[in-house]
Amino acid sequence: MDNKSREHVARARIHSGLPRQGPGSDKNTEETVRRLPSLPDAARIYDLGCGPGRASIILARILRQKIICVDLQQSFLDQLNDDAAKRKLEHLIETRCGDMSVLPDKKGSIDLIWAEGAIYAIGFDAGLRSWHPLLSERGMVACSELSWLVPNPSEEPIAYWKANYPGIRSVAQNVMAAEQLGYECIDHFTLPESCWWDEYYNPWSRNLEDLREDAKHDEVLRAVIERASVEIDLFRRFSNEYGYEFYLLRKSDIKIRQAVSDDAPQIAQLMAKSLREALPFLPIIHTAEDDLMHISTTVLPNNEVFVAHNEREQIVGFIAFDDEWVHTLYLLPEFMSRGIGTRLLNIAKVQRKRLMLWTFQKNEIAKLFYAKHGFVVTKETDGASNEEREPDVHFEWIAPI
Ligand code: SAH
Repeated sequence: MDNKSREHVARARIHSGLPRQGPGSDKNTEETVRRLPSLPDAARIYDLGCGPGRASIILARILRQKIICVDLQQSFLDQLNDDAAKRKLEHLIETRCGDMSVLPDKKGSIDLIWAEGAIYAIGFDAGLRSWHPLLSERGMVACSELSWLVPNPSEEPIAYWKANYPGIRSVAQNVMAAEQLGYECIDHFTLPESCWWDEYYNPWSRNLEDLREDAKHDEVLRAVIERASVEIDLFRRFSNEYGYEFYLLRKSDIKIRQAVSDDAPQIAQLMAKSLREALPFLPIIHTAEDDLMHISTTVLPNNEVFVAHNEREQIVGFIAFDDEWVHTLYLLPEFMSRGIGTRLLNIAKVQRKRLMLWTFQKNEIAKLFYAKHGFVVTKETDGASNEEREPDVHFEWIAPI
């Protein structure tokens, strides 16, 4: 056997019999499944990279629908079939040995893809990209992914993950990547630390101990055990800096991407149109040329600007923010009340700990919108210091800890 195969065998040995092959817990999976938006009857549901199938069983038990469970390793699927039979759920579990990146389904036919601790195997973006056309109109992807939880992680975890999972990104980067690929991020949360210990690292540590004797005569096994111990120890010390983030994503025909300078004319027109519709009483103090100049020379160069666009590249909304302020958030009137404003605002929130903004007191829709998203009023003015001389209100949002 060559060294690569020996390493593969050693890894399989230290992972054998684990209830899960990645961080997670039955309790957490169950809570997440119960929070899913409702699915159609006879929905097409996959558990991809299902491993021994802890999530598959929970999905079947709660949703009472058939779950198609895919993994490259037949031994895991055998384990899952046995488990399903014991729990009298075999009629709801269909196992398929195969590759999660090549599903045989028709376009628009899958309602839910569950990929807990598994999307990393083909890459977060590659997975989302390849599943997008297969999902039904409101189809969802529920996946967990190793993610940085802080803006500046320590050198030690950076070095370890650079060598062992270079694809790791921050939560904000993953949310933005999903939005850019045509998914609305309807929820995301960090798995509690217990999800790493109880059903994953603790059983894993026990396997490591049991194999120490064999490792005395097997240097490859010894090296694999050593690396696993380093990983476990690293998590013990740096669990506040990285973790598994669970992302609940829904297919959308609207995508969000970072703005480019060519977007300026569309953004300027959109701003003028939506302002006039929302606040028809405001004096018009800027010409179309002023607006374009403002967007090109001030807004785009000095802010982070994201646009929401449809499949024809029509821009339907945008947000501009800097370190502290949301300067503008506008939607075309006919695209309001579809959650697009929430998605744009979330792009800013996921990157910041605190945000402030001004809106006019008469803009009832905006005030309700910001209040709904956790912004609180901190002061009101008579408008003497704004260009329009229109009473305004200052909102502030502070990220929950
Ligand atoms: N969801 C399970 C397993 C996560 S580990 C759990 O939470 O316990 C990742 C799993 O993905 C492994 O079982 C591995 O065999 C499987 N896998 C890796 N690459 C795959 C691919 N391309 N297609 C299908 N399964 C794959």
